[in-house]
Amino acid sequence: MLEKTSNLAFTSIYTELGISNEVLEYSNQILTNLKDRFEQIDRISELNQLKVLSAFQKNKVSEACLQGTTGYGYNDFGRETLERVYADVFHTEDALVRPQITCGTHALALALMSNLRPGDELLSPVGKPYDTLEEVIGIRESKGSLKEYGISYQQVDLLPDGTFDYDGIRKAIHDKTKMVTIQRSKGYQTRPSFSVAQIGQLIKFIKDIRKDLIIMVDNCYGEFVEEIEPSDVGADIMVGSLIKNPGGGLAPIGGYLVGKREYIEHAAYRLTAPGLGREVGASLGVLSLFYQGFFLAPTVTASAVKGAIFAANLYKPLGFSVLPDEKESRHDIIQAITFHKRDALLAFCQGIQAASPIDSYVNPEPWDMPGYDSEVVMAAGTFISGASIELSADGPLREPYTAYFQGGLTWPHVKFGMMKTLQNLIDKNIISKDILIF
Ligand SMILES: *Cc1c(COP(=O)(O)O)cnc(C)c1O
Repeated sequence: MLEKTSNLAFTSIYTELGISNEVLEYSNQILTNLKDRFEQIDRISELNQLKVLSAFQKNKVSEACLQGTTGYGYNDFGRETLERVYADVFHTEDALVRPQITCGTHALALALMSNLRPGDELLSPVGKPYDTLEEVIGIRESKGSLKEYGISYQQVDLLPDGTFDYDGIRKAIHDKTKMVTIQRSKGYQTRPSFSVAQIGQLIKFIKDIRKDLIIMVDNCYGEFVEEIEPSDVGADIMVGSLIKNPGGGLAPIGGYLVGKREYIEHAAYRLTAPGLGREVGASLGVLSLFYQGFFLAPTVTASAVKGAIFAANLYKPLGFSVLPDEKESRHDIIQAITFHKRDALLAFCQGIQAASPIDSYVNPEPWDMPGYDSEVVMAAGTFISGASIELSADGPLREPYTAYFQGGLTWPHVKFGMMKTLQNLIDKNIISKDILIF
């Protein structure tokens, strides 16, 4: 493999794209040590690919399924079949997969607002939820929050070592507790992401206390990273975004909910209207992209996971701290790299942008994003606006100057993207090429 990559065609295309020989050699050296891990990732994607294929075949997905409906969208055969495919892949009774679900936050809000009633309480046993959920729940004052509807919230933080506070969780469950929300991915926090097995243990613990509690798992960034999903270990509802892993980079919009029939039905009535539920909601022209994207999702996710591991192994030896660390097993596609330097974080993100297929000539500038307490820099030269299954990175411009990087539709592209970030740090004299050890 090394002989091949050092041959003329490779060196010249990399040179043409601005990658020096030092960076190329260093990267390939790192990769020789990752062979076994990449093989393991390929095995996971093989299994998940076959799971998806099998669900397509079992449900007799046909050319007619790829056509969409308009207007009310009654009898949308393709939409109904796709929902059965999702339910089969995730081993659940039912699924709701719709372009009318605008994003991951919307899908999560739908699951919560449709299954909770005034007087109920929601519990997060894994600490603070994703930023945007704070407004859904009403942790931060917001119009239309659960809090406004008289639904209360309790949170049990993780223990200092990142594990579950089982005593605290037991104490937090009482008569009003109705639903539990578990976020699989750390998102943009510094806690570890949870493995599906860990989530399974937590669910078992909670169900042993009260088996009627509805357990929802926020599965954003987690789909197809492992061989099993939270729905295989007792989650009653599992929720995610189609512009992340399960959309395979093709879905232009959308979210999904899978789980027990009763809870999915509640969500459908909330998404459209009482009485209408899942029977309406035209799929317009997106079904073929939903199908094809879901079909590609296992291998696209594998590329993103390889990219995250490569990034950790590329930057760790250069003295930067990485989370997850270079050896850790993976439960989502996010990689954090901490630079402790403003210009280094900027150079990293500019490298990502410069490596993108779209808008590669644009220079990402820091901006004051609403809702953030510092400037943020974002790099995303993506086909689908804001799609974080595509190569993308962002970071708040404050100590510790951490870049959160994720995505990549193909492995060669993520590999190149990471090399480009490193090259940019060298070109800007932020790090010296002499520290690239061979
Ligand atoms: C992305 C994400 C969300 C929200 O998804 P959006 O599509 O950005 O609204 C929620 N939870 C986690 C863990 C996420 O990664």
